[in-house]
Amino acid sequence: MTNKEKEDWERVQYRMNNEGFDYCFTHYSNWDEIKDKTFHELRINYLNSQKKLEEYIDRMNEDDEWRINLKELKMKYFLDTEFFETELSIRQIGVIPTIDLISIGIVDEDGREFYKLNNEHKLDYSWENDWLKKNVFKQIYNEIIPNFDHDKNFIFDEETLKLLFSVFGSTRKEIVEEILSFVGKDKTPKFYGYYADYDWVVFAQLFGRMTDLPKGWPMYCVDLRQMMDQNGLTRKWKEKNCPDPLMEHSALEDARWNRELYNQICIFNDRNNVN
Ligand SMILES: [Mg+2]
Repeated sequence: MTNKEKEDWERVQYRMNNEGFDYCFTHYSNWDEIKDKTFHELRINYLNSQKKLEEYIDRMNEDDEWRINLKELKMKYFLDTEFFETELSIRQIGVIPTIDLISIGIVDEDGREFYKLNNEHKLDYSWENDWLKKNVFKQIYNEIIPNFDHDKNFIFDEETLKLLFSVFGSTRKEIVEEILSFVGKDKTPKFYGYYADYDWVVFAQLFGRMTDLPKGWPMYCVDLRQMMDQNGLTRKWKEKNCPDPLMEHSALEDARWNRELYNQICIFNDRNNVN
């Protein structure tokens, strides 16, 4: 540590001890002369927590209605799906491109988790897709088999996957009912995904047509990739701050990762706005 750095740290300590923690970090200075990443992360977290606590206390004093609806307001839901891009052949019309849901994961901002396999998925067709076999079905096999097959009877093949989908999967109707129960009383949920366009289509199609989404729900999903672009955040930034999950292409793992990516983008924004 240089003499100058030593003096800077002593100054922080002095201000904190003599003028109080709150004054030192809230009003006195942003401490730009300190070039220490951890110090600034902790400082910004402190400022953000203080702001949230203040807002919370203000609102608790506002009115009873707000307090009753506290848990019903605008929760964020991070979603990911795995799907099979295929074609539907309809007599007299011809071939129409379509998407078939395989699995869906949702994590809310508090960390509650939702994960379902679609047992109506047409595995007879998707099994022929080598990419899905290697990246999606292998993940599903790996996440279920350790707890399901203690005698190691089930190798990774189509029959085993069909069995796993029939034992652990749900129908589209059941998935919808469970999504509604997961979102619960939240009348205005907000959904986030990563490269989310196709995820949003398979998600919305569970409910029927676009207009069949529950009343009050948005008819769009916020794309985290777009948020990255708008903030000038590169692939390199992502690799450093939110590296891809080890179990990439597991819908639940990817949904957890989406939540983490969102949090990292917020930390980046807070840091740049506060400084
Ligand atoms: Mg995925």
